[in-house]
Amino acid sequence: HGIQLEDLVQLGKIGSGNSGTVIKALHVPDSRVIAKKTIPIENKEAIKNQLLRELSIMHSVKPHANIVEFYGAFYTPSSSNEIVILMEYMDCGSLDKILATCKRSMPRENGAHTNQTWFNELSISRISSAVLQGLSYLYQDYKIIHRDIKPSNVLISSKGNVKICDFGVSRKLINSIADTFVGTSTYMSPERIQGNVYSTKGDVWSLGLMIIELLTGEFPLGGHKDTPEGILDLLQRIVNEPPPRLASTGQFSKVIVDFVNRCCVKDERERSSLQELMCHDFILMGKSLEDREFRHWCKRIKRKIKEDKMVLREEQEKAKLVKR
Ligand code: ATP
Ligand code: MG
Repeated sequence: HGIQLEDLVQLGKIGSGNSGTVIKALHVPDSRVIAKKTIPIENKEAIKNQLLRELSIMHSVKPHANIVEFYGAFYTPSSSNEIVILMEYMDCGSLDKILATCKRSMPRENGAHTNQTWFNELSISRISSAVLQGLSYLYQDYKIIHRDIKPSNVLISSKGNVKICDFGVSRKLINSIADTFVGTSTYMSPERIQGNVYSTKGDVWSLGLMIIELLTGEFPLGGHKDTPEGILDLLQRIVNEPPPRLASTGQFSKVIVDFVNRCCVKDERERSSLQELMCHDFILMGKSLEDREFRHWCKRIKRKIKEDKMVLREEQEKAKLVKR
């Protein structure tokens, strides 16, 4: 692709996570909008070289319909303490952002809070299918295990694409970020939390939790994910308590309940594999939805995100006026 950092113009911040910050940027030579992620790292020559080598593996991953395209990794000239990763920009953002926007605007739509979200079973089936396809492509062709499936790493575009990003090619990268909680996620499977050997089935567990969250609007198992104590307590409960379940009270279809039950199995040996899940009736159900309809769903989401941004801006303006 040959993208040069000096050909980029920053357009605005998209978001930030534990490990870094993502901004929207314009690649001037071909007027393409891309996403630029900046990650602070330890400034040690050996670590940096190893990191770049590992990131170059991402270069060798050929484009796939369900993997966010990688455009390159650099050290910024201004500071050698950070690494920059360039990738495809997905204009509807990640599932966590969409869910947050949904939670903010649903009460306005219905007058009262409901535990329904914009994600219906058909759209979740499509999303799950995309995640499974992406995961099995990474594993079958490159023996890469994603290791970090969660709503913020599943991205949607208004063209109707669903893609996964931030796959864990680099454990070194995770280790060299100076924060104990980087690489710790509440979507981790019990075997991973316990430090055991893990396989692609770890990502299956994460997918199960994600589906429950998209459907109900709430992270299963509760807990306070905003403090280290809260996270540790939650991780302990994932290991010690029964796995989360979708209520089978008729609110959800039998197929989605069964699918989630096969993902959220604590013993990895009894959990379904990527291949098994790809043939599950819940995934086949999504195939009845036409591409055009799913694209419409994505476009609607994009419109709602835009509206939400405008409402937020208005509220901020009002708050400013009140202060004066
Ligand atoms: P963590 O650091 O715990 O993995 P995270 O995934 O939210 O959390 P980042 O990967 O730094 O953190 O991403 C920050 C936010 O930027 C994401 O939540 C997502 O909404 C947005 N984002 C990331 N990559 C892209 C992209 N390629 N296109 C559009 N938005 C993106
Ligand atoms: Mg991410």
